[in-house]
Amino acid sequence: MKIIPQLLFVIAIVIFGYFFSKRVIRIRKNIQIGRKEDRSDQPAKRFRNMLLIAFGQKKMFKKPLPAVLHLFIYVGFLVINLEVLEFIIDGLLGTHRIFAPYLGGFYTFCLNFFEFLALAVVISCLVFLFRRNILKIPRFWQREMTSWPRLDANLILIIEILLMAAIFTMNATDQILQTRGAGYTATGRFFLSAQLIPLFEGASTAQLILGERVAWWAHIIGILGFAVYVTYSKHLHIFMAFPNTYYGNLNAPGQMWNMPEITNEVKIMLGAAGAEQNQVEAPARFGAKDVADLSRFNIMNAYACTECGRCTAECPANITGKKLSPRKIMMDVRDRVEEIGSSNSDEDGKSLLGDYITKEEIFACTSCNACVEACPVNIDPLSIILQLRRYTAMEESSSPADWNNMFSNIETNFAPWKFAASDRFNWSKE
Ligand code: SF4
Ligand code: SF4
Repeated sequence: MKIIPQLLFVIAIVIFGYFFSKRVIRIRKNIQIGRKEDRSDQPAKRFRNMLLIAFGQKKMFKKPLPAVLHLFIYVGFLVINLEVLEFIIDGLLGTHRIFAPYLGGFYTFCLNFFEFLALAVVISCLVFLFRRNILKIPRFWQREMTSWPRLDANLILIIEILLMAAIFTMNATDQILQTRGAGYTATGRFFLSAQLIPLFEGASTAQLILGERVAWWAHIIGILGFAVYVTYSKHLHIFMAFPNTYYGNLNAPGQMWNMPEITNEVKIMLGAAGAEQNQVEAPARFGAKDVADLSRFNIMNAYACTECGRCTAECPANITGKKLSPRKIMMDVRDRVEEIGSSNSDEDGKSLLGDYITKEEIFACTSCNACVEACPVNIDPLSIILQLRRYTAMEESSSPADWNNMFSNIETNFAPWKFAASDRFNWSKE
């Protein structure tokens, strides 16, 4: 009968492992819906960016208070999860606190350190809940923050608090059981959870064992469930921030890119040097109408978005009341790619431009790059907006009338104004 908990543990690992890996495969496939782009250049610079921005949280510190609180949650997540290694070994082998006899006093030190981190995580989560729901910080309540994104953010904070509560309950009951000769391994005193001991002292040994086991299972099942849940949530940034910052755009901030096929056509037209007469094949589409026209890195960006709204809070178009929100652009790309991924077809008569993002939104963008600058994980909503706009200009000729006038002026006068190039300096003659 002693084997039953081990069997249940293996079954839990297999079930959660199945759903987690299924989801990882799905996300990988969804990212591959985008077109290929080569970003294998400058690996040292890319690695440095990843270390500084994803691992070191460099851009978070533009806002010190949330940065410090976020750091507690992040370090807590990384460090406390080391304890999960012991949980897994114990669960598989049917042991209890397998590392304690080997590590002795160092084990006590580590567990005390984990508990202080756990307390910091609980406090940080409570402050974040307060900021979101009581202070109602505007960027968490904008138009695109409908019921699911708001619930998702709150759920994760509540789950984190419950996971930490399970650790404290487990450690407190464990310490009492060590004094009752119930066969529990001696661990030394855990300062914080020891403060909870008076709450449990009246309980019988059987009740304490039950409490300790329930907390142990709740913590490990919570962690496994959390791993699956984040793949559906904005909290996927925990993992995606790393590849996302590694493969970030290394061009100068705000730099727009030419289309080589068009540049070549113009060179041929002007008889300029360097034109390839045997033209490179024209792309299937100029610009982007749907997610399949975007780069894979644009889609990866969407999966790395934390929905923090820092981009939207800095966006001059949004601040001046326009419909554009760079955060919504990222959320729309993720929703659309998920829709295509789950139906296994993009031939559903829908498209990113039109069904998710309106022209009013993309035409409101000033291309200022403030959203990219503000993003803590180097996401680039501007690149997506530019590709959608390129589609409206080059495939539909549906840019705003002022822009179309400017395009014709550039074509005929080589300047955005309606004056002929030869007249442009007349003003200086007077
Ligand atoms: S680049 Fe466009 S979307 Fe980004 S902040 Fe500027 S106006 Fe807003
Ligand atoms: S794009 Fe960046 S700044 Fe904007 S909501 Fe997503 S993570 Fe936050």
